[in-house]
Amino acid sequence: MEDNNSNRRSVLKAVGASATFAGLSGVVTASDVDTERVRDEGLPFPDASYIAIGDDVREAVGHNWWLLRMGRDRVDDLLRKSSLGSDEVTTYGDRVTTLRDTYAIEESAVTSTDVGQKHTYHLTDSDVDPLGREEEIEVAEVANAVIDGFRAEGDGRDDVSSNWFGDEHKILSKTAYDYNSVDIPSYYQDDLKNASPEPDQFGCKSCQVDWIPVDIPYALEQKMEEGLRGLGDDSEAKHPPFHFYATDIDLNVGPVSIDILEFGGAPSEASEMVDRANSRYGSSEAEALGWAAHYLQDMSVPLHAGAIVEQVNPYVNWDGSYGVNPRRDLHKAYEEFIGNNMENASGPVDYSFETDLLYSQSLSTPNVAEGCRDLADLSGQYATGILDGVMRGGKNDPSSWTDYGTDVFEVTHNCFDEAGRQIRTYLEHHY
Ligand SMILES: [Zn+2]
Repeated sequence: MEDNNSNRRSVLKAVGASATFAGLSGVVTASDVDTERVRDEGLPFPDASYIAIGDDVREAVGHNWWLLRMGRDRVDDLLRKSSLGSDEVTTYGDRVTTLRDTYAIEESAVTSTDVGQKHTYHLTDSDVDPLGREEEIEVAEVANAVIDGFRAEGDGRDDVSSNWFGDEHKILSKTAYDYNSVDIPSYYQDDLKNASPEPDQFGCKSCQVDWIPVDIPYALEQKMEEGLRGLGDDSEAKHPPFHFYATDIDLNVGPVSIDILEFGGAPSEASEMVDRANSRYGSSEAEALGWAAHYLQDMSVPLHAGAIVEQVNPYVNWDGSYGVNPRRDLHKAYEEFIGNNMENASGPVDYSFETDLLYSQSLSTPNVAEGCRDLADLSGQYATGILDGVMRGGKNDPSSWTDYGTDVFEVTHNCFDEAGRQIRTYLEHHY
């Protein structure tokens, strides 16, 4: 089956059009899939477009750079939808005008990378001074107001559905072993699948992962953790720092300006879960493998692997204390988009994300921590563009999240293709 050289995309198109596959109805047998399955080293969309923000922009204005990309009318619209009074809307609007006049940005480079076409934005005037302390606080106030308007927009709901942390983790686990060569005893499959959402609820208090291995003020570290948790559901699903992983994070807030080379504990915690599986048997072994799979599944979501500071949104107050205003609506909007296209495609790419998991093939290196890092390396590069797109287009309209045609759909397919490969790799190795 590995030497099937058919064109991957045309096969996927055929699959997408096939009603048999749409709901994993069980009509197709594993052997049917083996003969149809196409091995291709590359991503399904190797030319997908995504945006990146240059270091010059981040150094000049910090993590609220998205105020420079958003349509000016949309900024005003969101300020009006916020809880500001009309005088403040005018004042804040003027601040935005000044900010955008001073720090104009432009697309200045398109480069081909291993994950697609990278469109990088830089300052038009590279000599401009970065924001001063007071200006930084004023811009953060504007950003928080715009986020407030974003939150109120649309149906205004602030409840995070349990879809992502529950159903999606189960689908991701199930699809990785269904119709493929993973030989998990059938009586343990449900244990694995049903355990895979659980790390969002129990966390891992014994893991002791140092998720922010740099010296920053303790008060800020605590706020960063609070912000990450705030991206999850208040009631049940937690997003502790161990469910994120990103490299090269610029944290610029108040007096703190630091490049965090490695942030978040997903790889280490996933390893710990595999260690547990190795010392267990039967259904409790399958359960621990489901927990380990959880971290790979989280890494398949770009917003767990990049644009971290933007989402946590730390700021410094006039008295020098720190605050955060986590972007939960934005995080949730993208995860909902994934959930809505997981089993049935409804966008410009005519097959579901689940299909990526069915047809990607496993790798030769079964190390789950490395798998988390590799997957985060890929998906994290798309995070900036996704965050930017959701802010500009609004949480309810994924077709508007895109600068270049079908990019948000294509990059998400790339992530799930790699996720399928990674999840299957470690399950195949284990069983
Ligand atoms: Zn998680």
